[in-house]
Amino acid sequence: VTVEVEGWTRTTCVYCAVGCQMEVGRRGARVVAVRPAASPVNRGHLCVKGRYAFEFNHSPERIAWPMIRDGEGWRRVSWDEALDFTAAKLRAIVAAHGADAIGVLGSARATNEENYLAQKFARVVLGTNNIDCCARVCHTPSAKALKTMLGTGAASNGFDDIELAGAFLICGANPTENHPVVGARIKQAVLNGARLVVIDPRRTELAGLADVHLAPRPGCNVPLFNAMAATLIEEDLLDHAFIGERVAGLDEFADFIVDYAPERVAMECGVSAADIRAAARLYAAGRPSMCLHGLGVTEHLQGTEGVMTLINLALLTGNLGRPGAGINPLRGQNNVQGAAHMGCDPATLPGGQSFKEAGARCASAWGAPLPERHGRNLLQMVDAAAAGELKAIWAFGYDIYLSLANVAETTRALSELELVIVQDLFLNETAKAFGSVFLPAASFLERDGTFMNSDRRVQRIRQVVPAPGEARPDWWIIQQLAARLGRAEGFDFAGPQAIWDEVRALWPEGAGLSYARLEHESLHWPCPDEQHPGTPVLYQSSFPVGQRATLAAIAYLPTPEQTDADYPLLLLTGRTLYQFNAGTLSNRTPDAVLRPADTLDMAPADATRLGLADATPVRVTSRYGEVVLPLRISRQVQPGQVFATFHGSEPLVNRLTSSIRDLQVQAPEYKVTAVRVTAA
Ligand code: SF4
Repeated sequence: VTVEVEGWTRTTCVYCAVGCQMEVGRRGARVVAVRPAASPVNRGHLCVKGRYAFEFNHSPERIAWPMIRDGEGWRRVSWDEALDFTAAKLRAIVAAHGADAIGVLGSARATNEENYLAQKFARVVLGTNNIDCCARVCHTPSAKALKTMLGTGAASNGFDDIELAGAFLICGANPTENHPVVGARIKQAVLNGARLVVIDPRRTELAGLADVHLAPRPGCNVPLFNAMAATLIEEDLLDHAFIGERVAGLDEFADFIVDYAPERVAMECGVSAADIRAAARLYAAGRPSMCLHGLGVTEHLQGTEGVMTLINLALLTGNLGRPGAGINPLRGQNNVQGAAHMGCDPATLPGGQSFKEAGARCASAWGAPLPERHGRNLLQMVDAAAAGELKAIWAFGYDIYLSLANVAETTRALSELELVIVQDLFLNETAKAFGSVFLPAASFLERDGTFMNSDRRVQRIRQVVPAPGEARPDWWIIQQLAARLGRAEGFDFAGPQAIWDEVRALWPEGAGLSYARLEHESLHWPCPDEQHPGTPVLYQSSFPVGQRATLAAIAYLPTPEQTDADYPLLLLTGRTLYQFNAGTLSNRTPDAVLRPADTLDMAPADATRLGLADATPVRVTSRYGEVVLPLRISRQVQPGQVFATFHGSEPLVNRLTSSIRDLQVQAPEYKVTAVRVTAA
């Protein structure tokens, strides 16, 4: 089909955190075409989502005016009425219950500037540290582990390094489907000779190409990674020069790790000791070896500890501080790294800075003391709502109800709230079930700003078409609400660039990331001044925690979510190539026909044993709820396990998942749920 395009605008893909650059063609006020742009990230490629999944922007379901819920129905209102209503409710809740009765959630689909403004609103206008974002449920364990052990809670290496790696260790990630352009680059590097170890319970496409594929029992990452560390030490596969200069605690760690020798833990992990040893040898010999991990590592009871045990492997083999190596979380949504890094986290300020580092600077710049009380994270907000302590929540670009584990508990909690402010493109499931007021947001194609890739690279997004009707950018909505709550000053920015300049003034590592530079290039922080070239590779000479990083002795703690006679199968959840996360955007595009419904994948042997036929509906029951899904017999899953996607509201797969959370940062354990499956 020939499409007549009136003009092209360069911007950044809104889907995954690879952050591909694209040119978007418009005709009149409509987006009509997308083509890849030259960029060191995507090198002329886009995946099926970036290339074709943009029609959500003009979906007839788009809500382009503010609404207030009256009784059971929604009433269209003016911006003035919506903002006055919201401000009055917030003011009344603060007066009656205090500022900590309100929670604010930033968004991985909003810009850095908007997330910065959201946390400033929570801290300065409301006076609470109850600010968080969806990073809580995915890679907060990665950020916590990396910050604790090395000093920076983000990926150590840029995507530019992929072709430099001699070996890859891919853990709990399926980049072919979830970060497709990176997945294709890894595949090409492997075809060009790089060695590949994949650790994943499922036989993904990359697992099929791997020199070693370890398919552990879900929940066993810590003993498995420990067993690889034990192999490195026992077989002396260490980088002694690197350890001598930059690693502490080897003797104590060596004493601890003997209990995790592969032969001792292989049975618990469900893999062979020989394969564990082979994986460790390949990782050590490939140097530089790049480790990339996903939610199969983080979304566990020991998610943070799982990442820490991966960092041990990099420290033992000298795979940090050099190109082609590193520990690299594959972040989920486009700006999830940026949302948390801009201060949408109860415990940190913009730039990922602690209150000790930047509290005085922020308070002085914002003209207000910072709230001293600890803030609640997203999961703690839900708990507080259930307990009647949280009265209001403001979520933009995030569907809480659809996304959180254990829908029954989420429902109980959200039902207790007096005020639920939803700011989105669509009347999402949270709005439909619990919303009090709906504020219509502009999409990424209708506003300016910056996004931050999974690899710390900051890039521009640019407005392509006008927002429909009365939809407005998130930053404008926050600004208007701040003014109504008596804080016009400090929020009266002319636009995203002015907000970003305030961010740079408060964040020393981002000071050099000016719009003037970002107009022509993408830059990795740290970038402390306008002459600095940016830092694609962290830790080249030292770690922010000091000259030496310390190995972490992490004991394995099995999840309480175990199979038994009633629930004999383990359910894993994950994503597919043609959809993205909760499907809010991708379900409203032509791509949806490629994967129109969530399915339950089951090994052929289990399907035969249970008498279940392909493409028939099956009932999946856990200790927390049940859903009916179409069965898909698949050789990707192991016997004893099943796999479900979670891209839609019906059936809502999170009815099955538990309330078990990461021990340190409370990310839900989406990856291990005991279930039974019967014919529906
Ligand atoms: Fe967009 Fe990710 Fe696909 Fe790139 S790989 S086009 S960023 S969805």
